[in-house]
Amino acid sequence: MEGATLRDMETSRSEAVVLSAMDYRESDRIVTLFTLSHGKVRGVAKGAKKSVRRFGGALDPFARLSVELVVREGLSSIRSVDIVTVYPRIREDLMKIGHAGYAVELVDRFLPDGAPLPRLFRLLVSYLEHLDSASCSPSDRRFFEANLLNILGYRLSLDQCATCGVELDPSAGRMVGAAGGVLCAVCGRVGIFLAPETAALLARSLGTGRFGAVVFSPAALREAGALLDGAIAAHLTRPLNSLVFLKQMETDIQAD
Ligand SMILES: [Zn+2]
Repeated sequence: MEGATLRDMETSRSEAVVLSAMDYRESDRIVTLFTLSHGKVRGVAKGAKKSVRRFGGALDPFARLSVELVVREGLSSIRSVDIVTVYPRIREDLMKIGHAGYAVELVDRFLPDGAPLPRLFRLLVSYLEHLDSASCSPSDRRFFEANLLNILGYRLSLDQCATCGVELDPSAGRMVGAAGGVLCAVCGRVGIFLAPETAALLARSLGTGRFGAVVFSPAALREAGALLDGAIAAHLTRPLNSLVFLKQMETDIQAD
C-alpha cells in the first residue's frame, strides 16, 4: 500500500460489461471491463478461479455486471460483482456467441484505458440485448461497426472523395477506398463498387440508435462490409481473433 493516497483506495460501483478475462497466478483472474463510469478498466479478481460463490460465471466475456472496484493506475482491484445478465440466449447459439465475442473484442481493441464513453457503452449493451432477444443478423453487425467508428471519432466519410475531395452526388455510385473512405468514379477505377443505396443505408445507420431499424440487402452487405472492414483494419495493428471464428461460421453456414 506504499504511496497509496486516500483517493486511490476509494471503492466505487459501476455498471460494466466483461470484455475479456484470463487466469492470473494460482487463483486469480485478470478481467478487462468496459465500465460505464471509468471506461476500460483492467482489474484483478482475487480468488476468482476458486471462489465460485463470489464470482461464479460472472467473469465470462460479454456478461453484464454491477461491479464494486477500486480503480488504480495499471491494475485495478475488483472487490465484488453482481450479475445483471449473462445474456443466456446468446450463449445457446454459436453464431450469436461469435457476434457478441466480436463486439467485445472490437471495443477492447479500440478503446484506450480509462476513457469513459457512455455512448459506446450504450451501443454495446443495446447490441447485446438485441442479440439476446432477436435472431442474429449480419446487418446488425455492420450497424454496430458503423456506429462504433462514429462514436470513436472515425466517422465514415461517404459524401466526399477521399483522394480528390470532390463532393459526391447522393445518387452517384462510389468506389470503396482505403480506411473507411470512398472514391469518386475518376479516382477509383478498380475495386469494389458502393451503390448509392448502400451509402444511404450506412448514413441511416448513423442516424438511428435502434438495432433492427436498418436492414442491408445481400449486395449492400458485401459493399458496406468491404468499406467497414477496411476502416476497422486501418486502425488496428493486428487482426481480430474473433473474426477468424466469425468468418469460419459464416463459411460453414454458406456451405450447408
Ligand atoms: Zn476523386
